[in-house]
Amino acid sequence: MPAVSPTLLAVLTIGVVALILGILIEFTQNRYSGRDDPIISRINEGVSTERLRENLKFLSSEPHLVGSNRDKELADYIRDRFVEYGLDRAYLVPYNVLLSYSNTSHPNKVSIFDARSGRVLFESKHREENETIFPNIVDSYNSFAPKADVIGEPNYAKIDLKGKICIVRYGKIFRGNKCENAAQRGCVAVILYSDPLEIAREGTQQENVYPNSWWMNGKAMQRGNLRTSMGDALTQGFPALVDGAFQYGINDIELPKIPTQPIGYEDMYAILNLMGGLPVPNTTAFRDWNGGLNITYRLGPGFGSANAEKKLRVVVNNVMQTKIIYNVIGILEGSVEADRYVILGNHRDAWGLGAMDASSGTTALLEVSRLFGGFHRDSQWRPRRTLVFASWSGEELGLIGSTEWVEEHIHLLSQKAVAYINVDTCIMGPNLNPDASPSLMEILREVTEYIPFRNNTLLNAWTEYQEYISGELDKPKIKTLGSGTDHAPFAFFAGIPAINIEFTFDKKKYPISGSYPAYHTAYETFDLVDKFIDPEFSLHKTCSQLIGVLLHAISGSTLMPFKINELANRVQTDYENMWRRDRNEDQFVSKSDFINGEFKPLIDMLEKSIENFVIAAKDWDSKMRDLDLNNPFLVRQVNDVMLAVERAFITPEGLHQRPEIRNLLYAPFKYNKYSTVVFPGMLDLMKTISNTQRADTLKVPQFNQTLRRHISDIAIALRSATNLLNTSPL
Ligand SMILES: [Zn+2]
Repeated sequence: MPAVSPTLLAVLTIGVVALILGILIEFTQNRYSGRDDPIISRINEGVSTERLRENLKFLSSEPHLVGSNRDKELADYIRDRFVEYGLDRAYLVPYNVLLSYSNTSHPNKVSIFDARSGRVLFESKHREENETIFPNIVDSYNSFAPKADVIGEPNYAKIDLKGKICIVRYGKIFRGNKCENAAQRGCVAVILYSDPLEIAREGTQQENVYPNSWWMNGKAMQRGNLRTSMGDALTQGFPALVDGAFQYGINDIELPKIPTQPIGYEDMYAILNLMGGLPVPNTTAFRDWNGGLNITYRLGPGFGSANAEKKLRVVVNNVMQTKIIYNVIGILEGSVEADRYVILGNHRDAWGLGAMDASSGTTALLEVSRLFGGFHRDSQWRPRRTLVFASWSGEELGLIGSTEWVEEHIHLLSQKAVAYINVDTCIMGPNLNPDASPSLMEILREVTEYIPFRNNTLLNAWTEYQEYISGELDKPKIKTLGSGTDHAPFAFFAGIPAINIEFTFDKKKYPISGSYPAYHTAYETFDLVDKFIDPEFSLHKTCSQLIGVLLHAISGSTLMPFKINELANRVQTDYENMWRRDRNEDQFVSKSDFINGEFKPLIDMLEKSIENFVIAAKDWDSKMRDLDLNNPFLVRQVNDVMLAVERAFITPEGLHQRPEIRNLLYAPFKYNKYSTVVFPGMLDLMKTISNTQRADTLKVPQFNQTLRRHISDIAIALRSATNLLNTSPL
């Protein structure tokens, strides 16, 4: 045997040691290690308020409605920044989708005219200010409202809606659901408006409204989408690829049925001031129906007897058009698990200048991508799992860009996406107000402890705000994910757990039932943000720090930071609370109707399945505490089980009459897209049955059968999830 020279041996030894050290260093560097993790301080220190401010100023300098030239220019800009900042690659992803616009040469109008002479007595404005003050801002309209010309009597009541033009206030539930209800109840058109009670709470005089405060003048109009399903309407359930994929025709699809137009409260005053009928009663059924205009609010129908010859007319000239829209995707590959993805997304398109919705999130997205790109470029650092940065288009017309992307990559995402973090309008005020999938709530709470906030931690401020709102001092309660923004296709179609980050205004001081006053109006300007919302850009900084640290925590934790235990407990509590819903509001949930008769065995089965899931999840969590994190194969197996548990609740055919909502566990309620409930399909069907009992009793047995099958499906899914936890290799 030839002797090995001592020099060669030394060189070999040094080589091997260096290799092991190198692996170890890399392994520890990209591993999220909690409070003292060096990446956390690099994120906290790295966020620049100047850049956040500069980028927001640039992004909101021109309107960027979906499909506009500016929307495309900003897509190119964001792709170029992703590359410049040091991500591995960035590219545009086009989809060919159905859009809806107002008609620039024939704006939509609401008018009052004299039926005898035909003389027009009043005509609504179609934009807030003239073209020189806000060039290129799209006229006020509700996307996908059909083109129509309707004459009728106004009605601001809950009954006698057939053939009437229904006056509807913004707030509480999603506008698309309002219009769907109105159409079902016979309204021939809807006029939407925001009352001063919501958007001018400190008075409507010039000194109290924008540009002198964040409240709105009477010309501000909330534009907004009406479709209640998400994604491209012509390719529901599959991607709208640009190279010739199948599309349905306009006549094959469901679209909003009646014309709808949003106007300002100044114009609504002209209509309500002439209304006849009884004054709005002071009863709980009409709570909040009186508003902040200086008139007696009347129910109608029709104008008062002194104005009986006057009629109302609604003209909607909206046009539909298929167009190519662009998402931007930026990738920073993981060094250990490159085939596992953590996605951070935000929508780029806006109704107007979009300084809040959603450019406040876009500037944060850019800042966070700059930091991670920089870590990689400066020190060859990589995340453990692959980071995906996404800028969506078409969110405002129905989450189109994000939904198409999820549909295109559904198999890859269902197997390999770990979590999705969304940031839409990040900053409406200083109070953290996130929503999340239950399994991700714990990691969200944890990282807020590492974010500095006004000489304390964000966790502290968050806890104090919740105590101020609810009077309870407890760890922060987090809402389950609602809809209305881009996490919806990830969570409700693909079953990927998600977090939506948002900071809100003081909800106790300003109990607005809708969003912030300038929401979807022409006044969502950089100046509004710079003067009233976040003058120091310190809140934008906090938002960026939070999403940055979250991204690192979820992509860098060796063991995925999912709390299956919290998920199971939350399901159990939410299920128990389901039977305690406000019956006055819902009028359909009563457990006694269910525990007797045909539903009894199914409810028993469901409750048993929930219990077993809770037990298995508790067991799982305690096993996780003793897991050998140095065994990479075991870690990977365990992580795969947690991915699979979330997907166990995805039903391929979707919920009843909602194929795009496939999550049996949590999703928005069919009758209010903004509100998320446990077992959404069950609540949908109970409400449908309750409505049917009043209208068409013959259909009830069929719906009852669908509901029995659905409850059984939920129980089976819970058992599958339980089996996944129990048959783990532990
Ligand atoms: Zn938005």
